Amino acid sequence: MKQNPIIIIGSGLAGYTVAREFRKLESEVPIIILSADHGGFYSKPMLSNALAKNKTPDTLLNYSSEQMAKQMQAVIHPFSNVIAINPSDKNITLQNREKINYDQLVLALGANQIRLPLEGDGTDEILSINNLDDYCYFWNMIKKKKDIAIIGAGLIGCEFANDLAVAGYNVNVVDISEHPLGKLLPNAGGIFLQKKLEAIGVSFHFRSITKRVQKIGKKLQLTFSNGKILQTDILLTATGLIPNISLAKEAGIKVNHGIVVNQLLQTNYSNIYALGDCAEINSRILPFVMPIMHAARALAATLSKNPTPVQYPAMPVLVKTPACPTVVSPPNPDINGKWTVQETTDSVKALFHDSENNLLGYALLGTVINEKNILTKALPPIIK
Ligand SMILES: Cc1cc2nc3c(=O)[nH]c(=O)nc-3n(C[C@H](O)[C@H](O)[C@H](O)COP(=O)(O)OP(=O)(O)OC[C@H]3O[C@@H](n4cnc5c(N)ncnc54)[C@H](O)[C@@H]3O)c2cc1C
Repeated sequence: MKQNPIIIIGSGLAGYTVAREFRKLESEVPIIILSADHGGFYSKPMLSNALAKNKTPDTLLNYSSEQMAKQMQAVIHPFSNVIAINPSDKNITLQNREKINYDQLVLALGANQIRLPLEGDGTDEILSINNLDDYCYFWNMIKKKKDIAIIGAGLIGCEFANDLAVAGYNVNVVDISEHPLGKLLPNAGGIFLQKKLEAIGVSFHFRSITKRVQKIGKKLQLTFSNGKILQTDILLTATGLIPNISLAKEAGIKVNHGIVVNQLLQTNYSNIYALGDCAEINSRILPFVMPIMHAARALAATLSKNPTPVQYPAMPVLVKTPACPTVVSPPNPDINGKWTVQETTDSVKALFHDSENNLLGYALLGTVINEKNILTKALPPIIK
């Protein structure tokens, strides 16, 4: 009897890594990868330091979908939006109404940029970057422009600010919080990073809530809730991501903030799995590269009939702000504890301990980042 394939929805890092890992274990089982986009492979983290690396949208693309199909020994359908999952019939429905049966289904659907509820006639010109197509559009838009405003001083906002400032743009970063990377760093770390980015020309507007974006001639004008205004050529938002859960939710797959999975990356349907930016495990969403690599290896084993729970060691995140080398292993936000900070003119070292003095997180900025490996070894795993 002909074997139904493993279907993977999504051709981002999560979808392709699980396919690659699975192929190392199983050469015969058919794999079909369905993607709403072009299906080419690129490094998403490279988008926020592409200018410094002299990368253009063309050179950012590592492999086309055809090349990926060959590498993975898989059938890849680019520009194929899946509109429904039918768990009881074990099939999915494409936009053209075609149905494809699966034996096992992997959801690697990623996340979407959070859209701010802004007023004004300029809101349709707001850009955000969460994939190569977004970057390509942005890259073309900023040619011959000078002023770029970024709403959001988190990881992605700071990385783009650094990249754009070094490339010669006037960069203004607007954020509701008090300092950059407000969710990841203690105050001292945020202030240190802010000063380093200011030194390369980035201007920050903290405690600023953007209310309105209007077109004024060729410019966009931001109005903050305190009445202040800022004019810019380009407005980029980097205000966080929200896991792509709607397809799963409509299919009756359990969702919370993300698609809820157990340690086998399994949803409430035993043959439907999720990983990457769309997945929530132990109430946490970890939208980074390292968790995807660990999850993909474990899931590949599980898909090849060797059930393997995922284990996450501590996974520090390198912030790509060359003006201020930064590495952070943020503590679980649900755990109480305290930061202790050592500062010099060239560095900030912050350690997060719980009430029993267990090290649960750290942030290293400047000349101390080489302490990363020693500290990471001292951290408990995220999932054992
Ligand atoms: C600018 C930027 C810089 C980053 N830098 C870092 C970094 O330095 N370090 C780090 O660890 N992480 C970084 N990240 C995060 C990291 O890149 C992501 O965690 C990772 O790429 C997510 O991969 P994914 O496969 O889960 O999602 P995605 O790459 O978003 O892939 C989702 C896929 O699902 C497809 N899809 C969605 N819905 C459907 C549907 N209905 N039908 C068919 N296909 C569908 C999409 O077309 C896409 O192919 C960065 C992210 C960004 C945006």
